[in-house]
Amino acid sequence: MLRNFADTAALQSLDAAHHVHSFADPKALAQKGARIITQGKGCYVWDNEGNRLLDGMAGLWCVAVGYGRQELSDIAARQMTELAYYNNHFGTSTPQMIELAEKIARLTPDGLDHILFANSGSEANDTIVRLVRRYWMLQGKPTRQTFIGRDLGYHGSTLCAVSLGGMSHMHGMAPEMLPGFAHIMHPHHYLLGDGLTREEFGLKAARALEEKILELGPDNVAAFIGEPLQGAGGVIDPPSTYWPEIQRICRRYDILLVADEVICGFGRTGEWFGSQLYGIQPDLMPMAKGLSSGYLPIAAVAVGAKVFDVLNEGGLLAHGFTYSGHPVACAVASANIDIIANEGLVDRVREDVGPYFHQSLRQLADSHPLVGEVRGVGLVAALHLVRDRAPKTFFAPEQQAAIHCRETLWDNGLIARAVGQAIVLSPPLVITRAEIDEMVDKLKAGLDATAAAFV
Ligand code: PLP
Repeated sequence: MLRNFADTAALQSLDAAHHVHSFADPKALAQKGARIITQGKGCYVWDNEGNRLLDGMAGLWCVAVGYGRQELSDIAARQMTELAYYNNHFGTSTPQMIELAEKIARLTPDGLDHILFANSGSEANDTIVRLVRRYWMLQGKPTRQTFIGRDLGYHGSTLCAVSLGGMSHMHGMAPEMLPGFAHIMHPHHYLLGDGLTREEFGLKAARALEEKILELGPDNVAAFIGEPLQGAGGVIDPPSTYWPEIQRICRRYDILLVADEVICGFGRTGEWFGSQLYGIQPDLMPMAKGLSSGYLPIAAVAVGAKVFDVLNEGGLLAHGFTYSGHPVACAVASANIDIIANEGLVDRVREDVGPYFHQSLRQLADSHPLVGEVRGVGLVAALHLVRDRAPKTFFAPEQQAAIHCRETLWDNGLIARAVGQAIVLSPPLVITRAEIDEMVDKLKAGLDATAAAFV
């Protein structure tokens, strides 16, 4: 099955010469050399030298149905032959756009029935900023411009999406963010709980929204945006009190609520959408990743009746992308959703592999002094690394213990992610119990090696 791209040094040198990577230090990477991935099947990928890696991150949280699904490549090939491209500007549509929009509308929480297409999570979030500001303008409240997001929130890499997000290292890359964006604390109990119970802390973190709204003036606030469970911020699973209080506050001040489902959507949490898990009733929902399992770039925004009915009366909606609703991406996404539904992957995450994954990680953590907390839900988890569990003592950031651990895991055949002081996992939804056992064995070896290096 494996082809051989054997000359690693030559590939790395060309890569360093011409390819600027996402989220990497170019100079450091050029010295080290990129890892080159050439094949994927199920939950595994292979590098160019034939080493098999268990992909504990489903690519970038996206390959829900696993790699190498013949039915998806067949559908892409057929659609490319039949109609490789058409767009939805100026009143045209394709059956693939129509079918996918209807399918998404059937899955989303009640009332979120109107679907716009984009090509990435970032574009979907930019779209939201435009729609929401347009909504308030049409409502005769043009001062309602400001979006409130959260520290460690991640909503993408375009200027708008970076501004919505709360990643300080991204804000710091250029001199300033766009105006009209504010941030509140995140609901990370393990880091910020400070003696409060999870429930008490959930209320405190949510009430930071009310404080921010009052500080800005309610008439200046357009919307609050949050991931149901914060993924790239380190798998921050909210206390049970958090979202109900956020919703209460949004309603009280008539602030629109945006649930960023780019990671949580399409089964990762054991529900089709994270909003369903946490009882959130958003006004708008951006989604991407699991929508096509990453087989082709596509994203969508589901718009609820409250916003759509106003936009509907507002005349020309001057928004869209050349590739919005690309027919090949739509056909593949539609078939991908069918696979998730027909194979019962969402129920499987909720009832079988999700609980097994967390139980296995907890067992590992209980016996490992390096793990202070396991958190997450469904098939997304973080292991928070600590120098000491009690009293809770973290590694110095410059020690980069989690990055060391991640590199050890890669070298031992498991792809994981390091976020701050945590090791993050988000495997394909098709992962088996045996593959989870393999993952946990590899994690143990990586944690042992990290403990030996740092403690
Ligand atoms: N929103 C969330 C919650 C994400 O996790 C991401 C990407 O990781 C994005 C938005 C941005 O998506 P993209 O990288 O497709 O632009």
